[in-house]
Amino acid sequence: MTTYDLVIRGGTLVTASGRTLADLAIIDTRIAALLESGADASAKRTIDATGRHVLPGAIDVHSHHREPGFTHKEDIVTATSAAAAGGVTTSFAMPNVQPPPNTLERLDGMLALYDQRSIIDWNVNAAATIPDQFPSMASRGIAAFKVFMVVDTGRDYPHMPGIGVHDHGELLGIFEAVGETGLPLMVHPHDQGLMSHIEQGYWQRGERDARAYARAYSAYDGIIWDTAVAVLLRIQQATGTPLHLLHTQSSGVIEQLRRAKAAGQRVTAEVNPWALFLGNDWATIERLGSYALSYYVPEHNTEPLWTALNDGTIDLVSTDHAPHTRDEKEPGWTDGWKAHTGTPSTQFYVPLLLDAVHRGLISIERVVELVATAPARVFGLARKGRLEVGCDADIAIVDLEADFEISDDIVLSKIGWTPYAGSRVRGVVETTIVRGQVVYQDGHVVGQPGWGRQARPEGIGKREQPPTSSKE
Ligand SMILES: [Zn+2]
Repeated sequence: MTTYDLVIRGGTLVTASGRTLADLAIIDTRIAALLESGADASAKRTIDATGRHVLPGAIDVHSHHREPGFTHKEDIVTATSAAAAGGVTTSFAMPNVQPPPNTLERLDGMLALYDQRSIIDWNVNAAATIPDQFPSMASRGIAAFKVFMVVDTGRDYPHMPGIGVHDHGELLGIFEAVGETGLPLMVHPHDQGLMSHIEQGYWQRGERDARAYARAYSAYDGIIWDTAVAVLLRIQQATGTPLHLLHTQSSGVIEQLRRAKAAGQRVTAEVNPWALFLGNDWATIERLGSYALSYYVPEHNTEPLWTALNDGTIDLVSTDHAPHTRDEKEPGWTDGWKAHTGTPSTQFYVPLLLDAVHRGLISIERVVELVATAPARVFGLARKGRLEVGCDADIAIVDLEADFEISDDIVLSKIGWTPYAGSRVRGVVETTIVRGQVVYQDGHVVGQPGWGRQARPEGIGKREQPPTSSKE
């Protein structure tokens, strides 16, 4: 009889396509067998998951870990600890660090840091600003490039020079060059020209606080987002380069996405938890000011966002985990443009989504698809995101019925605060397993820095179809 390294007994396994009562058997780092629930099996270690749900670990393809350069906010160890406590087993880092990974040498430096310090599996999204660097960077096993169309005004972070591009010609060149690598290009859509005009209006009227900042970014029903996405979709169509849209939040973007997908364009999109649970309530913005801002998502967008999450127009949920210190948020009460924008969420987004299951907004199968199966598929992680024999044993065991109150006291992120404090949430992550190793259990991070490996893509990385039109 086979002796397994670990058997998770008595739980209900959840995949994107359904639920089964089964025991999950692991050898070394992989899922070795799905056993009949209660079957006799020899195991070196067992975890009793009776009454619990066993999910594929979440894959967060968009997280700001702040190292190197901004480790007063967060570092790789604290970010991946918070992620482990939230049921996340793979986290992709964003490139707005110092120095940004926009050259091979800088990327290599970052990969070496993650190799030593990450508790969970990881990758780094390289900054797509210097096209002649793309082929060599792609060869390092990254899963995506990232470009910000936004450049900060009134502050120098989080959208500092060296990672942002808003000239359309330059963007076209970046799409062409990323297309040669076959990897997807993640873009933060933003129309800087429109934003400059809009914010000048606010400033001339003397409106500068967090509320003004919130309204400026959502002005004219999301015009800065909608126009940027129109440009990006047209460039995507021209080049054929896979586009992954970040920060989906307006009905206008959702409609454009529907049309582009219906036309067969290679576009995927994500929504971030702040658009569903935080920035979509004006009362919260009045109460928390800049602490609630990533962005204000006017309330009438909430229902279209849930519809798009359920019907597949939005492919996945990633966190946009963006920790900033209280000192960096506090100026927002008088000047929203001075406060660093972004909100932390990696520790709580899975519980918030499980709570949404209880509220009837989404099914647990769809949650698994959005946080695990789809990110693995879109970014080519062939052995992740599913509970199948041969896959990496990346697992989150959750108690769907237990509830807890989110509070600053339990935050593992270095900043020590969360904008979700005070929310009571039904759905508790009890255990997180990365490639067969328990990294989080019963309130304690037990994983070790350096256990995490780079989650390299397979099956993407070369062009699968020609562009729809030529470049001449
Ligand atoms: Zn982000």
